[in-house]
Amino acid sequence: MENLNQSYFLSLQSYDSDLDHLRDFAEENKVPIVDQLSLDLVKQIIRIYQPKEILELGTAIGYSSMHFASISPDIHVTTIERNNEMIAYAKQHFSQFQYTEQIRLIEEDAAQAFSMVNDRTYDMIFIDAAKAQSKKFFELYSPLLNEGGIIITDNVLYHGFVANIDIVRSRNVKQMVKKVQKFNQWLSEQSDFKTNFINMDDGLAISIKERKND
Ligand code: SAH
Ligand code: MG
Repeated sequence: MENLNQSYFLSLQSYDSDLDHLRDFAEENKVPIVDQLSLDLVKQIIRIYQPKEILELGTAIGYSSMHFASISPDIHVTTIERNNEMIAYAKQHFSQFQYTEQIRLIEEDAAQAFSMVNDRTYDMIFIDAAKAQSKKFFELYSPLLNEGGIIITDNVLYHGFVANIDIVRSRNVKQMVKKVQKFNQWLSEQSDFKTNFINMDDGLAISIKERKND
């Protein structure tokens, strides 16, 4: 039923801008970009909250970062990617779609990139890199988030395995799924964040950092 609902919502819109068509390129090349309705939700949150500085972990081909930047010329995105093939695609797309001013690409492992991005604070962080490391990245980068800022973590349901680990055969996948479970539990217990888990696509966690003077 969920897939019917999902395809129904997807059928309401055409998604046919040049930027939207990069989704086809990603699918052909098996690059796991953010799902369409999840992206629509994140973009809507950006329209409401109006972040000026966004940090993204996991650029891939630059699809999500360009979509974020497309909402307003006032938005600046810093995005981190470690894979050389992805870095080459992202660079090509940022210049092709004219986002080189609005988007700064950090070519580094996100576990090592803190000192390259701590020249500023951020209003929003999108965590979409190695799923087993989401907790580590949340802990590492959340100090750079302004009070009242938002951290969105993608893939917190990981193919449905997180809520149904018994169907997982592979030992490696099981390890990874356990880490996502731990992250979700830990995230729900963080008292300086209010987290909302969204049962949509591959699962999103939307965490808002408490304001100290509330
Ligand atoms: N946010 C993109 C999709 C990212 S896919 C979009 O929705 O359009 C995940 C990406 O994270 C991959 O390109 C992978 O190379 C990168 N990645 C995984 N672990 C990483 C790490 N530790 N540091 C930097 N990039 C990482
Ligand atoms: Mg993702």
